[in-house]
Amino acid sequence: MPVPNIGTRVELVPMDAHFEEISIGLYVRDGAALVHTYSPKPCARERIAFVARAMTVLGGLEPAGGRVRFPCGRWHAAAAKRVFLEACKHDPAAPLETPGLEVVDRKTGQTIAARPLGAGAYRVEAGGVSAEAPSRAPAVARGLARLAELEAGDEPEVVAFPCGRTHDALVGLLLPRALNVRAALREEEAKATRGVLVSPGAREEPAG
Ligand SMILES: [Zn+2]
Repeated sequence: MPVPNIGTRVELVPMDAHFEEISIGLYVRDGAALVHTYSPKPCARERIAFVARAMTVLGGLEPAGGRVRFPCGRWHAAAAKRVFLEACKHDPAAPLETPGLEVVDRKTGQTIAARPLGAGAYRVEAGGVSAEAPSRAPAVARGLARLAELEAGDEPEVVAFPCGRTHDALVGLLLPRALNVRAALREEEAKATRGVLVSPGAREEPAG
């Protein structure tokens, strides 16, 4: 039976690695998202609830009447998809923790940190910069901007959320991926290609 008006599916995990290979979709309507599966398997509901909760812890979304949304009230589409995918990937046996705003770049050994400047802006800073390894901060800032659809600031290390609100958890989640945006995008393309090959969602689209 189709679920009435659950929204538009914006992302799909065709085979959940952590629960019986069910498919899990993210459906958006009115600035809030529903984590949903059409699987009738027992305990699928619990799995869905876990993914939604993981989105709140990992990406700083907040629960809203069975859905999740950003506290700012805006829908950050690209960022939300990544939070959803990370929440699905998260090992349920591992603790759920809000990611910090600092990460070590393995390639250069630099410590990359995102400092909140207020009004939704963040400055990316690199520690341990040397003549041999110039600062990765501008590249990471560009990566963040690309992954979360952020606006560029006055300086190359500054990016800002268009809503003008802080999103520390979100930035912390995306920071490691912003170190290597090309790899993050490649992974996404591979996933999309697999999705086309197995056409997982076709039979599961709601009728309405
Ligand atoms: Zn926002």
